[in-house]
Amino acid sequence: MNYTWCHGPECHTKQTQSRIRGSGRDKVLRTIKIKQGRYNGYQNGIWDYFCGNHCMFDFIREHITSIIAIAPRRQALETPIKVEKEQLKDYYNNPYTRKTITRVDNA
Ligand SMILES: [Zn+2]
Repeated sequence: MNYTWCHGPECHTKQTQSRIRGSGRDKVLRTIKIKQGRYNGYQNGIWDYFCGNHCMFDFIREHITSIIAIAPRRQALETPIKVEKEQLKDYYNNPYTRKTITRVDNA
């Protein structure tokens, strides 16, 4: 069975029953072992690397500069849309404008 160890930098310090390993009185808290594909690739398989949100955010906090360097955003992106305005009346017959955004497919 393929597995990875949780990449959370503090995973092995969290005091939970599931992390205790060893025999006798002298034991250790061990990084959580993660079975690959445990959520069938949900969210691009991110949960193959982290035991939970806390460990994922610890990792991001520690490595944010390196992560952003992989794909830096140097300018704003734009999505072409059309906006339709519709004059409507509410329950009390007061007029209001509803704006409907429709994405324009340029493909
Ligand atoms: Zn973890």
